[in-house]
Amino acid sequence: MSDDMQLLIDLHLRNVRQGPGSDSATEMALALAEVQAQAGLQVADIGCGTGAATFCLARHLGGMVTAVDFLPDFLTELNKRAERLGLAEQIRTVEASMDALPFEDASFDVIWSEGAIYNMGFADGLKAWRRFLKPGGVLAVSELTWLTEQRPEPLTRHWNDAYPEVATAGQKIRDMETAGYAPIGYFPLGTESWMDTYYRPLQQSFADFLDRHDHSEQAKALVNAEQAEIALYETYSDYVSYGFYVARRLPD
Ligand code: SAH
Repeated sequence: MSDDMQLLIDLHLRNVRQGPGSDSATEMALALAEVQAQAGLQVADIGCGTGAATFCLARHLGGMVTAVDFLPDFLTELNKRAERLGLAEQIRTVEASMDALPFEDASFDVIWSEGAIYNMGFADGLKAWRRFLKPGGVLAVSELTWLTEQRPEPLTRHWNDAYPEVATAGQKIRDMETAGYAPIGYFPLGTESWMDTYYRPLQQSFADFLDRHDHSEQAKALVNAEQAEIALYETYSDYVSYGFYVARRLPD
């Protein structure tokens, strides 16, 4: 693994979340999904990081949550936190890439993924994960979304470059239909899901992070890149957010 990747993991490992989101957003998506809590429920959390959503799902749904990530350090941390929270019995971790999931068809009642599907692309992810859902099963994913049709040019340029699939909710909902799902609902994450739960805690960890790495050039460059991303978000938060999308698997 590259040094830069190790640094990125070290920076994000200690935080509650590795991307925008919040328990209240997870709970709102659960309410839209109308999944009834029950002991036998099978839930997957794909790109789980250290498990912020995993724990929320385990608490609200009962059942078993399979937490998937390709970074073993995040899964080790997730298991420690699950133990501390008294949720270990309800959670199992699987180290796998989201584009090669090691599950049988129709394994899950619910597939969840917050701030992660972009790693394989929204449309490809929807398509690839569909077969792992039971018929009528629910998919809930958060995805970078334009909030407006018109936007300042520098913002459009930045994200078209960094993630060409960025689009409005209307387009994302069409993608779900195309991939064989019936959309149930969508809502955009509010600024608290970026600032309070993700960016501010991250910013508060920069000083310790730099100390741990003796203020190396690489560590400083990473902090600068994160600061630039935060500044971009703060400038343009009226125009861009994550959308939470909830849908049901349609029959073949
Ligand atoms: N869902 C968590 C983490 C979001 S960050 C939260 O909301 O806090 C995105 C996560 O996706 C990271 O944990 C990263 O390790 C994981 N990831 C990135 N590419 C992946 C891949 N190809 N397969 C599995 N996980 C991946």
